[in-house]
Amino acid sequence: MKQEKTSSEIPVMALLDLLGRRWTLRILWELRNGSQSFRSLQNLCGGVSPTVMSKRLSELRKSKIINLTKGQGYSITPEGLTLCVTLFHINNWANNTASGDFTHQPSNNPVIRFCPYCGIALILKKIEDKDRLSCPAENCNYVFWDNPVPVVAAVVEHDGSIILARNTKWPENVFGLVTGFLEKNETTEQAVKREVKEELGLDTLCIDYIGIHSFFEMNQLIIGYHIKTQGKICLNDEIAEVKPVEINKIKAWPFGTGFIVQQWLEKFNKQ
Ligand SMILES: [Zn+2]
Repeated sequence: MKQEKTSSEIPVMALLDLLGRRWTLRILWELRNGSQSFRSLQNLCGGVSPTVMSKRLSELRKSKIINLTKGQGYSITPEGLTLCVTLFHINNWANNTASGDFTHQPSNNPVIRFCPYCGIALILKKIEDKDRLSCPAENCNYVFWDNPVPVVAAVVEHDGSIILARNTKWPENVFGLVTGFLEKNETTEQAVKREVKEELGLDTLCIDYIGIHSFFEMNQLIIGYHIKTQGKICLNDEIAEVKPVEINKIKAWPFGTGFIVQQWLEKFNKQ
């Protein structure tokens, strides 16, 4: 007979139970910038009784999320840091929504957790007024800046239509422009022509720069081009299907590459 697991045996339940206890998350938040003594941690938290504080600290130590070092006090362990990175996202979300800004959500890019030079777990440090993941090692100044990634996008014109494409990872009925990342030592024009050739099998006849769009949701900077093409459409395995839309029927959509289409339509209609 299959036995049901009690909720404390399910790892995420045990963790939610631990983190849900009063003061636990606040203690972790106050430890984000480095170690604190019992007294200073108590002051930072304000209002927590010494008994509750001791209890929470010992629970967190037992779970290996924090440790206690003689002379230094309590600090987040390298294992604990990978968990506490989520507080960094919560902080971004809180700041953005407090300022009424719902568009600048944390990026979907993978967050770097270890220093690429030393391999040490990164910690949050205040740099230029923002909490940033930084290397704690002496003599290493690595900071994970999380800069936006440039992406090229093409309004592909072929036989009097604009070719919209659906990526194999996207749901049915969701189409966008052909996009791609730049290779090293490649110009944006070379990259966008290559992507159109790779994804649609089309050759570029002429290319015009449209403009850029800051795609905050994906932490990308989209650089848009209008490309007139020739050849026969032949999809690679990244593209599930394409949808040709007559040039005078194309409409922009309010997300991602849709803003490049909007800029192109504005230019196109002025001509
Ligand atoms: Zn380092």
